Amino acid sequence: MLVVKEKVCKSILSKSGITDYSLNCYTGCEHGCLYCYARFMRGYTGHKEPWGKFVDVKVNAPLVLEKEIKRKPRGEVFVSSVCDPYQPLEEKYQLTRKCLKILVENRFPITILTKGSLVKRDFDILKGYPQVELGLTITTMDEDLKKKIEPLSSSNRERISTLEEASKLGIKSYCFLGPFLPFIGDREESLKRLFGAVSSLNLDHIYVDRLNLRFGVWKSLYPFLKRYYPENISKVSKALFNKRESEKYSSELHQRIKDIARTFRLLEKIEFCF
Ligand code: SF4
Repeated sequence: MLVVKEKVCKSILSKSGITDYSLNCYTGCEHGCLYCYARFMRGYTGHKEPWGKFVDVKVNAPLVLEKEIKRKPRGEVFVSSVCDPYQPLEEKYQLTRKCLKILVENRFPITILTKGSLVKRDFDILKGYPQVELGLTITTMDEDLKKKIEPLSSSNRERISTLEEASKLGIKSYCFLGPFLPFIGDREESLKRLFGAVSSLNLDHIYVDRLNLRFGVWKSLYPFLKRYYPENISKVSKALFNKRESEKYSSELHQRIKDIARTFRLLEKIEFCF
């Protein structure tokens, strides 16, 4: 069961290592991705529930943003860095929507990254705004695997169609492909299916990332591997924990992705994050 708490925040535009600011209207994320790097945020909330089973809703986020935006220098805002801005609760609360309106009115550049096709609801705000870039993350085109590793996010088909619609409306868009589950989501056929699926999209660029060992990732991944892919536990653990194996894994994956991207004429759009 999901535990939802309404909270008030003091600040909403945070300094970011990715862009100038990040904006998160929620602490916690219903999507509950197995590999989520943001699970360290649980430590700041006091929640006992596991990652994916609680969300704190910053109900005053738009009000705080209205005030904050007047005294902070204009800069690029990443929406969002430690939650999904279009997780299912956003349908009810509309906090991301209200904040986007404020950012657009104040001419702040915006980069969105989501796994939720709910973003389509806000195309009326984004359409015609030249300083926005919309990204959808896709880690696999295998819907069964997606349901296991990203339970409440939109289906892959919905994500692809969201990007198609954005393009038709002239909204600049990109894809974030990954992180791929080692020896599962990064198999040759899986990657070909994924790159094939995005090859017809009008994307500005495509980020690609491998799975990295971040706080809590192995603890979350291990029971999944034990249940569905016990034969992979040893090699996945080496690719994550053993420095030499990890470098070898990275360089082989890098090369394979380059080859596949070249086949689909996507190589010039690829930006590696590893
Ligand atoms: S959508 Fe992003 S923030 Fe949410 S659980 Fe998945 S990886 Fe984490």
